[in-house]
Amino acid sequence: DGVDNRNLEDAIYAFGFGNRCSYVKPFGAGHINETYAVYMPGEDGDELSYVLQRVNSNVFKDPAGVMENIFGVTEYLRNEIRQEGGNPDRETLSYIKTKSGCNYFEDGEGEPWRCYNFIPDSVCYQLVEEPEQFYQSGSSFGHFLKQLGNYPASRLHETIPDFHNTVKRFEAFQVALKRDLKNRAVTCKPEIRFVLDREADCGVLVTKQEDGRLPLRVTHNDTKLNNILFDAKTGKGLCIIDLDTIMPGLAANDFGDSIRFGAATAAEDERNLDLMHFDLNLYELYVKGYLEETKDVLTEEEIKSLPWGARLMTLECGIRFLTDYLQGDTYFKTEYPEHNLVRARTQFRLVDEMEQNFDKMQEIIQKYTK
Ligand code: ADP
Ligand code: MG
Ligand code: MG
Repeated sequence: DGVDNRNLEDAIYAFGFGNRCSYVKPFGAGHINETYAVYMPGEDGDELSYVLQRVNSNVFKDPAGVMENIFGVTEYLRNEIRQEGGNPDRETLSYIKTKSGCNYFEDGEGEPWRCYNFIPDSVCYQLVEEPEQFYQSGSSFGHFLKQLGNYPASRLHETIPDFHNTVKRFEAFQVALKRDLKNRAVTCKPEIRFVLDREADCGVLVTKQEDGRLPLRVTHNDTKLNNILFDAKTGKGLCIIDLDTIMPGLAANDFGDSIRFGAATAAEDERNLDLMHFDLNLYELYVKGYLEETKDVLTEEEIKSLPWGARLMTLECGIRFLTDYLQGDTYFKTEYPEHNLVRARTQFRLVDEMEQNFDKMQEIIQKYTK
């Protein structure tokens, strides 16, 4: 059925499915990795049992580091889940080693393949449909942090260096502005001003991390709603997935990226700014779920840093869009020439509203730490 290529077949044998496997077919709609569903014979016919992926080594330049991070964290989680009396086969991903005991298989072209168990009876939401889901999302990512509270984060590979170094993101912006390759600076003066006025903000969390006031933790770095599987029966958050970007980082950054994406009233690339607002009620729901899990794990300084995380992740994201716009759209995929500028504007709108509501954002944190 179109996937009879040599590398795929090799991978199936390398992971030991060769003789038992019923069939394999393309899975999902990801555009980064090549993904296949592996079906095995079950009691009621063939069952989707494993997910097999050929990793895009252009995006993940250090696949061995990525896989070591994933194995380290998921094996640790399995143990934690067992101690909580949970089901480690459903509440975390189980990655499978090759027959020769490696955590990934390198095919004839040197490309890495990896494999994990499919989790049946789960659902995944692209957008917040019910506010309750956003509460669940805070609870799930909070629980993830709590479970990994004693994991030695310094043992993780920093597979994308300086991913959330907002100061370096600002510096990259300054370079792009100075070079102004496409002569676009003239078309976005207010947005440029917005960023330049916030240079000092960019250092708030980075400085605290560097001088030891904020600890490095295991962070997920893609804390979107669609990276949680919900239990189809109970509707509760079940399993955190999409672990490629696990790295040492700040709790505030994972928290902040969830808020940036989930507590907004419009899409990241909405052109009509009147539709884009920061939703304080959604923020509160996330905070409630998140702090119920983490308030006894996070330090006082970390708890205080959470609203800053929301502000700075949103600012950083806007800075990256504006930088790419100035550079001629070489990083983010764009559908029209101002696409990145439109995206930067929505982010800056959110930042502006977060700044105006910053006291309230802090009060809400206080309310749920009591
Ligand atoms: P991407 O990096 O492309 O976002 P993900 O790892 O998030 O890749 O997987 C894409 C989608 O595939 C998920 O949003 C989810 O719907 C589904 N999925 C991924 N892993 C599993 C799994 N173990 N069990 C069930 N569904 C899964
Ligand atoms: Mg994903
Ligand atoms: Mg991913």
